[in-house]
Amino acid sequence: MAKESAAQRVERIKKEKNGLDVLKDIYVYAVLGEEVHPEDIDRFKWYGLYTQNRNLQAEDDPTLYFMLRIKLEHGSMNLEQMREVSALSKEYGRGTADFTTRQDIQLHYIQVKDLPEIFRRLNEVGLSTIFAAGDVPRNVITCAVSGIEHDELYDVRPIVDKVNDYLRGNKNLSNLPRKYKIGISACHKHCMGHEIQDLSFTAVPCDCSDKVLFDVSVGGGLASAMGIAHHIGFVTPSQILPIVKAVSTIYRDHGLRENRRKARLSHLIKEWGIEKFKEEVIARSKVAIKEQKIMEYTPYAKREHFGIHDSKEKAKSYIGCAINGGHIGSQGLEKLANILEKHGATTIKTTTTQNFVVKDVPTKNAEDLANELKTIGIDAFPSPFKARTLSCTGLNFCKFAISETKDKAISLATHLEKKFPNFNETVSISVNGCPNSCAHPHVVDIGLLGLKVKNKEGITVPGFELILGGNLEGSKSNFGEKVKIKFLPEDAEGILENIIQKYIDSGENSLNKFLKE
Ligand code: SF4
Repeated sequence: MAKESAAQRVERIKKEKNGLDVLKDIYVYAVLGEEVHPEDIDRFKWYGLYTQNRNLQAEDDPTLYFMLRIKLEHGSMNLEQMREVSALSKEYGRGTADFTTRQDIQLHYIQVKDLPEIFRRLNEVGLSTIFAAGDVPRNVITCAVSGIEHDELYDVRPIVDKVNDYLRGNKNLSNLPRKYKIGISACHKHCMGHEIQDLSFTAVPCDCSDKVLFDVSVGGGLASAMGIAHHIGFVTPSQILPIVKAVSTIYRDHGLRENRRKARLSHLIKEWGIEKFKEEVIARSKVAIKEQKIMEYTPYAKREHFGIHDSKEKAKSYIGCAINGGHIGSQGLEKLANILEKHGATTIKTTTTQNFVVKDVPTKNAEDLANELKTIGIDAFPSPFKARTLSCTGLNFCKFAISETKDKAISLATHLEKKFPNFNETVSISVNGCPNSCAHPHVVDIGLLGLKVKNKEGITVPGFELILGGNLEGSKSNFGEKVKIKFLPEDAEGILENIIQKYIDSGENSLNKFLKE
């Protein structure tokens, strides 16, 4: 009999037992302490669990450790949630906690025996891991300052709630061809990154009763789904949910399941053509998608909300903060919650750049709060290098990783801050442990992609490859290009310093333009 392909194996596993149904097995494994069946390990993803690599694990430690991704709807975490996640991280995750590019938070070193208690405690504070991973709709991303930013075009929070209510643990969508990513935002800076979502809705002003329409874009993505999303027209706020339902079920019913690398929505659109896809969306949703002039979008490097800003809430401010590569940890979460509480704030909203916004600071306390955050390494007025430096999970925990990322991201930002204290143009940097590109290296100014390189002795060791000039800006978006420079991790600081110095010496006024040329 012919050997099963990777895609056939995954499709069979999903068919034989729905990913959502693995929850009862998790409880049994936890109680009996039996070895987890490899096919159930795959299904564990439906509850946010991935096995982690053994890189930091003692050779004589046979324990199977997992990464646990906790879903933060709207990217939101209140004080109670921060403290509970911090406590869980301390008790079960060796103090690990990192914000992700989908506004989630993930812990490491999680063991199956502890999952019932972890799930119970997350549930008690209103958090969940359902659909945080697997072939399902992932966390719906949105702007961190929705509902509190004066210049936003529309408050999308009720729409995001409706879409979340439809998607959350929906058994009809629990066997999609692959992961599926939706974003909804009315941010005037377009911070969500609609160009790389499978399905996104971005508000544009209009002379109509709602004063706003939403640009519907489909089929964007990175890695195996690499491509800028196609704009298919505009809808009203109340038409967003019908469109979500239509696109989700079209993808479920017709997505290409024969090859994992061709299973994302973008590949179905490529096979059908955008016109046929749009016709099917209109037929299923019964929404007459409108035509209108496509708007200009903010370039990627300017899509941020750092600093102290007046909120729409009376006597409140919001503070956009940077935390390098999303690395916060158990202690960081606990300290953050204590500082927020001391100054009368209650909630953070994570961003798609692994940073966060403190949502509701009494205006009279905003400066003091920002100053105190600085004492724990969180900057409301970050250097251009710290502001937009992303990093993926990397070698410490990810099974696919070739190179370490989190420490490297911090080291790069620190080095560049010291070398260029007066540089004031925002730079976007992304450090990735392998070519899978989880931290978006193709859409930033300077991307590092983990791969094997040869050292001076000719020995193959972990290193990086350079990608330059990526940018998201609506129809003017472009992916960065590999520039045939491969290097050892210890040379990364010098190489990036060189790039910035050359840009300064060139006298140009746009780093991204300089890097593209
Ligand atoms: Fe892992 Fe590679 Fe993704 Fe980094 S880019 S998290 S190393 S799969």
